[in-house]
Amino acid sequence: MADVASEPANQAPERRRPSAARILLGLGVLAGLGTLLLWPLGRLPGHFEPEVGRVVFGNIPEALEAAFYVTTAVFLGLTFYLFSLRARNWQRGQPESRTGRWGERLRRLEQGLRMKTLLRDRQAGLMHAMVYFGFVVLFLGTVTLEIDHLLPTKFLHGTVYQVYSAVLDLAAVVYLAGLVWAFVRRYLQRPSRLRSKTKPEDGWILTTLAAIGVTGLLTEAARIAWMNTPDFETWSFVGYPLASSFESGAASDWHRVFWVAHVASFLAFLVALPTTKLRHMVTSPSNMFLAPRERPKGAMREMPNLMEAEDIETIGVAEITELTWKQLFDTDACTVCGRCTAVCPANLTGKPLDPREIVLKTGEVLAASGTPIVSSPVALADGIVIDSARVLDRVRPEEVWSCTSCRACDEVCPVNIEILDKILDMRRYLSLMESNFPGELGKAYVAMENQANPWGMSPQNRADWTAKLDFDVKVLGEPGAESAEYLWFVGCAGSFDDRNQGVTLALATLMHRAGIDFAILGRRETCTGDAARRSGNEYLFQQLALQNIATFDELGVKKVITQCAHCFNTFANEYPQLGGNYEVVHHSELLAELVKQGRLDAAGNGRKITYHDPCYLGRHNDIYMAPREVVASAAQLVEMPRHGNASFCCGAGGARFWMEEQTGKKVNVERAEEAVATGAVEIAVACPFCYVMIDDGVKEIGRGEDVRVRDIAEILLEGQKP
Ligand code: SF4
Ligand code: SF4
Repeated sequence: MADVASEPANQAPERRRPSAARILLGLGVLAGLGTLLLWPLGRLPGHFEPEVGRVVFGNIPEALEAAFYVTTAVFLGLTFYLFSLRARNWQRGQPESRTGRWGERLRRLEQGLRMKTLLRDRQAGLMHAMVYFGFVVLFLGTVTLEIDHLLPTKFLHGTVYQVYSAVLDLAAVVYLAGLVWAFVRRYLQRPSRLRSKTKPEDGWILTTLAAIGVTGLLTEAARIAWMNTPDFETWSFVGYPLASSFESGAASDWHRVFWVAHVASFLAFLVALPTTKLRHMVTSPSNMFLAPRERPKGAMREMPNLMEAEDIETIGVAEITELTWKQLFDTDACTVCGRCTAVCPANLTGKPLDPREIVLKTGEVLAASGTPIVSSPVALADGIVIDSARVLDRVRPEEVWSCTSCRACDEVCPVNIEILDKILDMRRYLSLMESNFPGELGKAYVAMENQANPWGMSPQNRADWTAKLDFDVKVLGEPGAESAEYLWFVGCAGSFDDRNQGVTLALATLMHRAGIDFAILGRRETCTGDAARRSGNEYLFQQLALQNIATFDELGVKKVITQCAHCFNTFANEYPQLGGNYEVVHHSELLAELVKQGRLDAAGNGRKITYHDPCYLGRHNDIYMAPREVVASAAQLVEMPRHGNASFCCGAGGARFWMEEQTGKKVNVERAEEAVATGAVEIAVACPFCYVMIDDGVKEIGRGEDVRVRDIAEILLEGQKP
């Protein structure tokens, strides 16, 4: 079946490599056999009993020691086997390259292993760090003990042993304190993002982890009592005082009981690791390692040229197998932390979209439709039955259409899960395979098809605004305007929307004043196709994009200026997929540079202005400072609580501008309230869609009279010295 949801079909076929599932199986066999080998190694002659130290397996009968090595070997093999079953599921996805950029990958892996991104949330991060690092130190301590046991020359005796004992006791205290905090957070404090996803499985995980810590300390205490509580063990500052609670006659038995319980709880952990969400200890850092990709973060997944492709049977994602293996792996890396949900503008304003659920539902379908069936990312809610591999049977269209494509979820995810891609791929299927899209979008599609702009205005009137200027604007390709340094792509909003025409006039004036050599396309300009692509209509996007690229090529365009964050993103990140490669400059960058060079010289004043970050300039392209520099050159900049990469969407992205917002609070109203609460007299924007949304929001809350919404170009022009 031809599937055009994947990365370009014309890539060279990949060399056959061993599958992830087979590699994991091989590792399982190696781990099991390796563990079995340790037993005879530890019994070689030449070991000595240190005066200050411990005898490993002291007081443990030979049969129990043998059982320890055999069961640990079997359970280690089982852990890898259970992971290999999950890997078989990841392999059901489409191919996707995640190689290269090894330095960045290793850096991200290192960040994952030391939980750098998780610590962004102070409280949850610290709690996780206490449990995780406590566990790691205890585990490494056990491995060190085993190495010392195997080596004929001991290093773990004397002062080294005493320091070792103290470090491990400290790790155990930190670990158990973290677990108590986790219990309190999940079952007493119950923040909503945890409450909604707390399952019996969470209780079992916490109990297993706690059992490892508690039985470890009790084993140590009973062992010290069995050794007649020697003075050098005072360094075990928890185990030593606890030892006094064991009667000397019973210490030996208790030591064996707790030792067995400790081993059993570790074996339970080995089973829980691949079968419960505890798996994220392994999959989350791995996902961070896999995160770097060739495609810029502002670009949707590439598709073949639909104008030329033949034998296409399906577009986008409806079935599990239409997602890439990386998109499937994501679902096993989710920690279920809910940070994505907590920043989602759709979710926060009462829409039927929860980004965490998009990941988990995809994972549920993946788990339930594999052979054999594996455990769901988190236990299924009561009454949920999954009987097909169709993701769109689990994820509802209203969830998919509520997304504003703001990318806040991807940005905040501590383990680099790509949520937005999944949603947009599902839109492609809904839009092109089922024509299942909000009716209002249909009107915009028709207007884009017929008039090359979603407003449905005549292309002949695109450059009518130029008549309001007292200087001429070159139209590229017309007599006397055969070339220009920059093509200024005005965009549909800048050409046809009344409020945004003011921005166009301001920018034209500023560029003229600064002596920029620019020209426009006039009636030959067509919509970039952003709204078509983000709403899943890849066919229409490509039609518009290819037309623009042909015009640019014909006119020799090399550099493009845009005043629209969406046009900027589409030109810079998505046109290269279709062969259009240009140097693209957003007007915020151009204006900031002109101010820096002194070619524009705003006379700053003290009025308070707050700046709203457009998602497609900020999170999609990391341009945060340039627009702020422009505002700060003309006024006093005050920040909203949510700004920069934590900014809150205006509600227009993902073609939501062209859809009705019928459920919950309006996103633009929520944002306008936040902006007005700063006490600013003006709200600066740097995108035409943000302009309309925020302006409407301010008017809707009754502040249209005293708070003005202005583009940064208008603010800069107004601040120009006479
Ligand atoms: S992209 Fe924005 S609106 Fe869409 S799911 Fe993520 S946070 Fe929510
Ligand atoms: S997708 Fe990321 S942010 Fe969302 S719940 Fe999963 S791990 Fe947390």
